[in-house]
Amino acid sequence: MQVLLGPGTEFDRIRAIAARLGDRASGLGDDCATIPDGPGFLMVSTDTSVEEVHFKRTWLEPEEIGWRAAMAAFSDLAAGAARPIGLLAALTSPDHGEDLVRIMDGVGDAVRGCGAVVMGGNLSRGPVLSLTSTVIGRAPRPMGRSGGMPGDGIWVTGSLGGARAALVAWNAGRIPSRSAREAFARPVARIEAGVWLATHRAHAQMDISDGLAGDLGHLAAGCGTGATVVLENLPIHTAVPGSAELAGQAPEVMAAEGGEDFELLVALPPTFGSPEADRFRAECGLPITRIGTLTTEPGVRLLLDGHPMTLRGHDHFG
Ligand SMILES: [Mg+2]
Repeated sequence: MQVLLGPGTEFDRIRAIAARLGDRASGLGDDCATIPDGPGFLMVSTDTSVEEVHFKRTWLEPEEIGWRAAMAAFSDLAAGAARPIGLLAALTSPDHGEDLVRIMDGVGDAVRGCGAVVMGGNLSRGPVLSLTSTVIGRAPRPMGRSGGMPGDGIWVTGSLGGARAALVAWNAGRIPSRSAREAFARPVARIEAGVWLATHRAHAQMDISDGLAGDLGHLAAGCGTGATVVLENLPIHTAVPGSAELAGQAPEVMAAEGGEDFELLVALPPTFGSPEADRFRAECGLPITRIGTLTTEPGVRLLLDGHPMTLRGHDHFG
């Protein structure tokens, strides 16, 4: 089975697994698994958050570890234009102390915020703290990564780079700004936005978990198109300029490379313009910004000052 993902070692591994599974798998490559259910679809996704890989315990309160892990999983449902129903939590930890209750308290807040409930889970002892969230939702009109066409506008919700700004500060031994920390510790799955876009003629959408520079390659691969993005158009999180200076990077580059903002990356028809973006903002309570165009010419082009840039998580073709 061919999985239409962009370049990268991780995605080469996913392609190899899919090839080995062959006809023992189906529908791989989107943010959600899609199951026909009456007139609509059940949507399922799973996501793992591992201590020292996705977070350090010194950075976050236990409730924030739970919130963040659950929201990361719900973000895939947002991409699929599904309304969440429930979550199963598989929690592994070296100890069975009070922190586990506090982690699940954070999961509970995220689940309630998304209109769902905790439906079950599993507790196990293991070498590091890890939380796997499996989420289920329902979509009358599910969305995936294919369906975008050359000429479609590439749009992104919210702002980019906030979570990365917090990571840069922590890794430099500093305390992140309040807004950067909030972006990392308290992301919000764009559920309403995902549903709104699906009912306003979005052709394809996915969530940005690995950073725009990498995820753009997956959207283009899913749509069978190329993509051109003008980095000056990116909606940059307010915490980015300060952190970018610390990292010696252009703010646009940090915003494009930074992952875990959990915003939506969307292909919308050329007729979607400023009036529609204003309606989106009024009805969903967050901005949506056009950053580029899907192209007939294959490959992903990221332009800064008119020059093609090669960014992390992104193989440059042009
Ligand atoms: Mg995703």
